[in-house]
Amino acid sequence: MRVIVIGAGIVGVCTAYWLNRHGMQVTVVDRRSGIAQESSYGSAGILAADYASPWAAPGMPGHFFSHLFKAEAPVALRTSLDPALWKWLVKWLGQCRAERYAANKRTMQRVARYSRAQLADLREEHGFEYERRSGYLQLLRTQRDLERTEPARRVMQDSGIAHRLLSPDEALAMDVHLQDAVHVGTPLAGAIHYPDDESGNCPLFARLLAAECERSGVEFKFNAVAHPMQNASGAVTGVRLKDGAMLPAQAVVMAGGSDAAGWLGRLGIAVPMYPVKGYAANLPLRGDAIGPRRAFVDEAYRVTVTPLGQRLRIAGTAELGGRGPGMHGKALRTLVRVAQDWLPGMLDLSRATWWSGTRPMTPDGPPILGATRLPGLYVNTGHGSHGWSMAVGTGRILADLVAGKTPDIDLDGLDIGRYARKN
Ligand SMILES: Cc1cc2nc3c(=O)[nH]c(=O)nc-3n(C[C@H](O)[C@H](O)[C@H](O)COP(=O)(O)OP(=O)(O)OC[C@H]3O[C@@H](n4cnc5c(N)ncnc54)[C@H](O)[C@@H]3O)c2cc1C
Repeated sequence: MRVIVIGAGIVGVCTAYWLNRHGMQVTVVDRRSGIAQESSYGSAGILAADYASPWAAPGMPGHFFSHLFKAEAPVALRTSLDPALWKWLVKWLGQCRAERYAANKRTMQRVARYSRAQLADLREEHGFEYERRSGYLQLLRTQRDLERTEPARRVMQDSGIAHRLLSPDEALAMDVHLQDAVHVGTPLAGAIHYPDDESGNCPLFARLLAAECERSGVEFKFNAVAHPMQNASGAVTGVRLKDGAMLPAQAVVMAGGSDAAGWLGRLGIAVPMYPVKGYAANLPLRGDAIGPRRAFVDEAYRVTVTPLGQRLRIAGTAELGGRGPGMHGKALRTLVRVAQDWLPGMLDLSRATWWSGTRPMTPDGPPILGATRLPGLYVNTGHGSHGWSMAVGTGRILADLVAGKTPDIDLDGLDIGRYARKN
């Protein structure tokens, strides 16, 4: 069976890997010149199977809207008349109810935990080295930040997810840089430690897995924009490239990240995804500064700091209505503020390199997986802020579905049809 995967981000590469393992003839098509050059490039690198949470959470609308006019903030809303944005926001607000949050978080954790197990197997089998570190800390500046984690802790307790709420003193004992931070006045009300979560270099992992795919016969076509080919009854029969080349296939998997919604929409398939812009910086540590031992997130600003060798990746913030490539001062200030607050005097900001791009966000949180109503067309997209955390697992599930096998985990809450049902 011949299968085309559209998108060579982390999701497309993982999907291609598992399709190939099922004995299929796979071609991956991407408009960029190489692997992981869009959202997957900007990933903070957290494999957050246990931390993974939907943005739509109780208390989140108030938290976000109260920050809209501050100089540094976890979220920015650009003036936009884009109806897709306002429709998405209405759906997102509807998912902030406690019971929807709990259901969506459980779904995301089911996928991400499955993904973590599959990733561990791949690491062992292929010996991949991708700057991996164990453990993850969620830093809580204020009592209010701590209280906002209550719904998440309840779900984790009910599902037996490994995590530990730390007092400020216990948190300080976890890493030396936190003592320096508190010493210069950064507030710390507590932290949550996720011992089984990890971090690493997402684009590096994607390139290693793609090289493995190529060795096993997967073909990659770059600088190639893919359009759908359809027969008279609407079934998708392959893709047509911008240069006119035709690639017929029995199945096409749309793994195009933020642009999947527009592509699918032109085929009459509505998916309520919105590109939520985020920012990232790579910066070296100063001289012989010893950086953090493990990755952490500043929950108030939703900015993550990840140690990658002798440099750090700082990433986060959510900008709605800002699809373009521009860099906005508010987001950059927020990243710098978090870095300076938690790593005082350790960073060489003059050598920072900056990036911005979008996350493919669903309003409820879980990704969208599986067959569409058009025969031959599958989707694997909408991974939002947790694409790397879920990609190895969703790639395997999608390949199982294309091959007619029953996936290892329950797909409730992951199919495209969930939006047509009333929650
Ligand atoms: C700032 C930031 C930090 C993040 N941190 C984390 C993190 O710590 N942990 C985590 O798990 N996730 C994180 N994420 C989320 C994660 O990066 C995304 O969920 C993930 O990269 C999505 O992968 P993807 O393959 O679906 O999309 P992409 O990486 O965007 O890949 C899609 C590809 O499809 C191609 N494409 C689209 N349409 C076409 C077409 N018609 N023809 C040809 N090619 C096409 C594009 O060129 C692109 O290469 C972060 C995201 C951001 C923005």
